[in-house]
Amino acid sequence: MTTTQSRIEPLTEVDQFVNGEHFLLIDGKKAEANSGKRLDVFDPATGRILTHVPDGDAVDVDRAVQAARRAFEGPWRRLTASERGRIIWRLADLIEQNLEEFAQLDAIDNGKPLTIARMVDVPLTVDVFRYMAGYTTKLEGSTYNLNLPGDWHSFSRKEPIGVIGAIIPWNFPLFMVSVKLAPALAAGNTVVLKPAEQTPLSALRFGELLEEAGFPPGVVNIVTGSGEIAGAALVAHPDVDKITFTGSTSVGKQIARAVATDLKKVSLEMGGKSANLVFADADLDVAIQGAAQAIFFNHGQACVAGARLFVESSVFDEVVSGISAIATGMTLGPALDPSSEMGPLVSKEQQQRVLGYLEAGSHDGARVAGAGAAPDNGGYYVAPTVLVDVRNEMSVQREEIFGPVLTAVPFTDVDDAIAQANDTSYGLAAGCFTTNLSTAHKVSNALQAGNIYVNCWGVTDPSAPFGGYKQSGWGREFGREVLEYYTETKAVHMKL
Ligand code: ADP
Repeated sequence: MTTTQSRIEPLTEVDQFVNGEHFLLIDGKKAEANSGKRLDVFDPATGRILTHVPDGDAVDVDRAVQAARRAFEGPWRRLTASERGRIIWRLADLIEQNLEEFAQLDAIDNGKPLTIARMVDVPLTVDVFRYMAGYTTKLEGSTYNLNLPGDWHSFSRKEPIGVIGAIIPWNFPLFMVSVKLAPALAAGNTVVLKPAEQTPLSALRFGELLEEAGFPPGVVNIVTGSGEIAGAALVAHPDVDKITFTGSTSVGKQIARAVATDLKKVSLEMGGKSANLVFADADLDVAIQGAAQAIFFNHGQACVAGARLFVESSVFDEVVSGISAIATGMTLGPALDPSSEMGPLVSKEQQQRVLGYLEAGSHDGARVAGAGAAPDNGGYYVAPTVLVDVRNEMSVQREEIFGPVLTAVPFTDVDDAIAQANDTSYGLAAGCFTTNLSTAHKVSNALQAGNIYVNCWGVTDPSAPFGGYKQSGWGREFGREVLEYYTETKAVHMKL
């Protein structure tokens, strides 16, 4: 393991943006928070304050929702579908033109290596907006042959739901904006976005592109603030028609309880504890690399992280020592250092949480098979770690850690592997490494998860539906399927 201090200098415009004043975006205009309060935004690589953003509250949320309602009933509705699509496409172009700036903002704010933000976060964001822009003109209903006497014309229409409250997490700050906003806007809704308090910067910069892209004021409003105040106010607002949320299962459950009062529509994309099964017939080099990437990508701060590894007993030691060697050799450092393979976690709180799990695992009898070393310089680093001697009742095996911690457990045969993999309350992702086609199919059918990876991990594409079984979620992102969650279906019956 090596640590380095050198780093590339951020672009001047990034520096200026980070250090400039930040505002809410309401009705197309910059606005101060009603309370005048600001939230500190921290640099995860140093633990120092990076900047401040407005600490929005229920009053700000209400102003934003009113603006979104006016835009929904007015200018956004009056545009043709192809005009809406062109605006969304133009937004994608503008993000792409500013790719380096967005990548640096997310790297600085979140702590992820700049190379990841450049290669994954920003290009995927652009792809999602482009993919969804094409659907504005393809929202179609059906006609029905009623089983009734007489002449009838019955058909369905797909209509936007209305004002969508979008609440997003900090692990992929800009990309999460696209995951929620692209389908919502393509379907003709308007939005109030509440970014995560840890990583609001790329969303605020995104807000500056909306007018140039051609969005009428109020179609997208952005309220920064805490989850407990701004997030909860959005969930409780009577004029919000739907909440779309990505984040922890515990907050998702709170939101589900809160919307029960007025039965708002809701999409929830939440946690995971995804099982990765490595069979003895796998190409072990591919499996070892794949399993390491499954857990260490984005520092394990990914809802699909392959956090529970199950390995066929005959190759258990070989696979675990291969992944441990990768963990031990990883270079940890600041996001803007080109040699960093892993950055700091997003926040002090997150660092303490993950370290707490490591302590609990050790107390419960888990053993470290391999671990890197974390720089000790005030940044929120946690070393990539592989744990063995893990039992299923341990918290490290049952709960989502959301950090670079892998547990490894042996299995005897395919049925044992499937049973252990499915013994979880989560169901977001799962997968296997095997060269046996029958095993690949059998395992894919039997795993209880919304996303299955075979000889790969974490594949994310706007064309393919994404979401969770069990306590990992309600609804789906991406693909044609996501439009079901951003439209109402109206059946119209005409007696002729
Ligand atoms: P994480 O554990 O990954 O930080 P959270 O679920 O706490 O995820 O946060 C995800 C998003 O949900 C953030 O934007 C956060 O501000 C928001 N949030 C947190 N608590 C609430 C709440 N009670 N109501 C609405 N939104 C919330």
